[in-house]
Amino acid sequence: MSKAVVAVVGRPNVGKSTLFNALAGERISIVEDTPGVTRDRIYADVSWLDHEFTMIDTGGIEPDSSDIILSQMREQAQIAIDTADVIIFMTDVRQGLVDADAKVADMLRRSKKPIVLVVNKVDDFDKHVMDSYEFYNLGIGDPHPISAAGKLGFGDMLDAVIAHFPEPDILDREDDTPRIAVVGKPNVGKSSLINRLCGKQRLIVSDIAGTTRDAVDTRVRFNKKDYIFVDTAGLRRKSRIQGDIERYSIVRAVAAVEKADVVVLVIDGAEGVSEQDAKIAGIAHERGKAVIIAVNKWDAVEKDNHTMSDQIDRIHKTLSFMLYARIIFISALTGQRLGQLYEAIDQVIAASTMRVGTGVLNEIVAEAVAMQQPPTDKGKRLKIFYVTQVAVKPPTFVVFVNDKKLMHFSYVRYLENQIRQNFGFEGTPLRMITRQRD
Ligand code: GDP
Ligand code: GDP
Repeated sequence: MSKAVVAVVGRPNVGKSTLFNALAGERISIVEDTPGVTRDRIYADVSWLDHEFTMIDTGGIEPDSSDIILSQMREQAQIAIDTADVIIFMTDVRQGLVDADAKVADMLRRSKKPIVLVVNKVDDFDKHVMDSYEFYNLGIGDPHPISAAGKLGFGDMLDAVIAHFPEPDILDREDDTPRIAVVGKPNVGKSSLINRLCGKQRLIVSDIAGTTRDAVDTRVRFNKKDYIFVDTAGLRRKSRIQGDIERYSIVRAVAAVEKADVVVLVIDGAEGVSEQDAKIAGIAHERGKAVIIAVNKWDAVEKDNHTMSDQIDRIHKTLSFMLYARIIFISALTGQRLGQLYEAIDQVIAASTMRVGTGVLNEIVAEAVAMQQPPTDKGKRLKIFYVTQVAVKPPTFVVFVNDKKLMHFSYVRYLENQIRQNFGFEGTPLRMITRQRD
């Protein structure tokens, strides 16, 4: 199920990070074990009432001369327009309405994206709510006064945000056409790959009425099957701001990954895998998406007998949390092995939606337990009653045990590996949940 994406746009110092941190709460720590990603706080899971959404902070503007600020804000706003379902446009009651706000508001209004205008730093509602009225002049609707620092006004603001979410039946499409996000650092060849894959069909953009999100999706037919590449507009537009290119590529990846079933992580084969690739890979991993690592520019790599296995070793080392990913070597330039990419997409989707029966699963687990005894502590041994698969996308297993405290991380890993060895699941992460049963 894909979650709505909400982007926050606004001048430096209006309080975007403060709002972000206040809403993200502790949930952000869930992703602790993925390198790099959380520290940047570029995105967070937010839940409000029974709604859950992903919030992205397009921020990262260096306060500099006002010219640069405006052009960076435009860039930010454009990314929000490309990627988000709803945009929070944040202003500051203390600084009042400034020219840059008006210019960015114009741009947002023309995009026809749902906008929620937020006026921050209204720390004392009784005294200062009136001051937020001047922001009606922006012409993008009612100002919602908040205090990000004091956590005031959040309820009304979030109600306004949620009111703009696409209808659930649109979000959860009955259509089971695979949705694929092509992500990666700048210049690895994402646009070239999309152009190759989509060919002339590039121009055929689905036009389901009322779904802004589909305007950037491209539907492709291959071997009599349909595929949808999501967020392809984001690929076409290149950031001009050097310093923020990395942040922007992550923001875009978050939004695209959220809407996809399969993530194709493109890396530059000529350059080799890097830490920045790991950050983007981490997003797909956390989101539980099926993953294919496409090592691109293979035409430009000088090869001998070891080149491929050396690359695989390096990828496994750098993306050690993702040993399950499929790896293929391609060239967007020559078209080498692009057919295999579609095959891989079919295969990893099959893996991420596979269900294993409880009977056969427990035979495997019983064998695994016999081969390697569960851990003990102070004379008490972990007992596994049974294991059952409770969900797909990603496949999720609940392990019922006598005492949760006895379950070690390494034993969970062991069980996961046994399940993988017996059933496959190549290309998809697995979730393992331990439950105590008395
Ligand atoms: P960003 O650059 O938009 O991400 O802004 P920050 O979140 O870093 O906030 C900029 C400054 O405004 C910081 O000093 C915050 O403490 C302050 N600030 C943020 N929200 C509020 C608020 O609701 N009231 C007041 N008085 N100050 C705030
Ligand atoms: P993006 O920023 O990830 O979308 O990357 P582009 O698609 O714009 O490609 C960046 C550069 O790499 C361009 O100069 C492409 O021509 C080049 N490129 C892309 N794919 C390949 C490939 O398979 N082989 C070679 N040799 N060059 C490639």
